[in-house]
Amino acid sequence: MQLTILGCSGSVGAPGNPASGYLISVDDAPSVVMDLGPGTFANLQVHQDPTDAHVVFSHLHADHCLDFPSLMVWRRFHPDAPSKGRNLCIGPAHTPVHLGRLSSDDPDGVDDMSDTFAFSPWSERQTEILDRVRITPYRVAHPVETYAMRVEETGGTGSFCYSGDTGVSTNLVEAARGVDYFFCEAGWGPTSEGRPEGMHLSGADAGRAAREAGVKTLVLVHIQPWADVEATVAAARAEFDGEIVLGQAGMVFDA
Ligand SMILES: [Zn+2]
Ligand SMILES: [Zn+2]
Repeated sequence: MQLTILGCSGSVGAPGNPASGYLISVDDAPSVVMDLGPGTFANLQVHQDPTDAHVVFSHLHADHCLDFPSLMVWRRFHPDAPSKGRNLCIGPAHTPVHLGRLSSDDPDGVDDMSDTFAFSPWSERQTEILDRVRITPYRVAHPVETYAMRVEETGGTGSFCYSGDTGVSTNLVEAARGVDYFFCEAGWGPTSEGRPEGMHLSGADAGRAAREAGVKTLVLVHIQPWADVEATVAAARAEFDGEIVLGQAGMVFDA
């Protein structure tokens, strides 16, 4: 099982690094795209046929889903390679309405995705099986319905966890327990001092979550383009003595 970062810039895209999107690839089965933030759809085309993938959403803030209408256009209207059937789409309960509004021609309308996606909502800690990829959602602390995802391959031993966007959360630590690679947001940069609770993590918070969860490698993601990146990594390092990687679009991780 392989994870490719399509983009991991925090809250907005950065030069060379779009906002959030991650590609899970397995042999002989459809891939899974986790979040599809603005700019990630172009990078998805570099790696594979965009229609041969299920799509899941941690939450529906703009930086995690705004390329979904582009995927719908490709699936429906690509002259040679439109989708040949329905893939799965899983996300917060209101995903079909929220994303349907983005693709509707009518300002008050909702485009119906059911011709090309079979949608089902996340249910707390209920593992979903998407061909060979198993994903378990854990509700985390963010102003809208948001899930961290624990990702495992059926018949494999590797594991990933993607934090989504979250403040400090015991559910996050459980989602990440013992994983090979923990893709954890550090949206507040070096410190969360003076920031509102229940929204994002600092590098220090991410390092602490990685230590408490006993992960093998921490990959820091969702760092905003204006943040002090070196200080954010150093803050994580002060809390976690395992391997720390600074996430960047194009990076590939095997588990
Ligand atoms: Zn975000
Ligand atoms: Zn968010």
